[in-house]
Amino acid sequence: MSVAYINIGSNQGDSHAVIEQAIALIEFYSRSAAVRSDYITTAPWGFESQNEFQNIGIAIDWDKSPLELLDTLQRIERTISPSPHRDADGLYIDRVIDIDIIAIDEEIINTERLTVPHPRMHLREFVLKPMYQIAPGWRHPMLAASPKELIERLGC
Ligand code: ATP
Ligand code: CA
Ligand code: CA
Repeated sequence: MSVAYINIGSNQGDSHAVIEQAIALIEFYSRSAAVRSDYITTAPWGFESQNEFQNIGIAIDWDKSPLELLDTLQRIERTISPSPHRDADGLYIDRVIDIDIIAIDEEIINTERLTVPHPRMHLREFVLKPMYQIAPGWRHPMLAASPKELIERLGC
């Protein structure tokens, strides 16, 4: 059994409602009760938009493989909204729902479909602050730092 740390974001539509729907589906498929952070509101990261993001971090128990978790989360994303997350040039755009795997215990995974810890997690306030709330004792296995230390390094 592993603990999976997941970040869910939305900046389009009824963001809180879709995030709650996503959490309910993740709890159903993992047969686990989510430990959850507060919501965090931030400006879009990596692209321009008027629509602020709502994000939340959750931790769940997961007893299947990491790729099965990615498959499950991608299926939930498509169930909630089939719209793409990138434009034709591969740039970020507004999204109804985005569900990313931030970490699985302190494992390192580098495959074509899945990188864990999430490769940009240490650059994102909306990932680090929820992670600090739900997993203060977790340590980034490559950067050798806790969420609090990563927040201090980022200066947010
Ligand atoms: P970012 O990765 O910068 O947060 P994004 O969430 O907008 O960007 P997507 O278009 O949602 O990116 O996902 C692109 C691909 O990233 C997915 O198809 C998936 O295979 C891959 N991926 C790699 N590592 C992860 C991870 N840790 N969590 C979710 N997806 C991942
Ligand atoms: Ca993302
Ligand atoms: Ca994603």
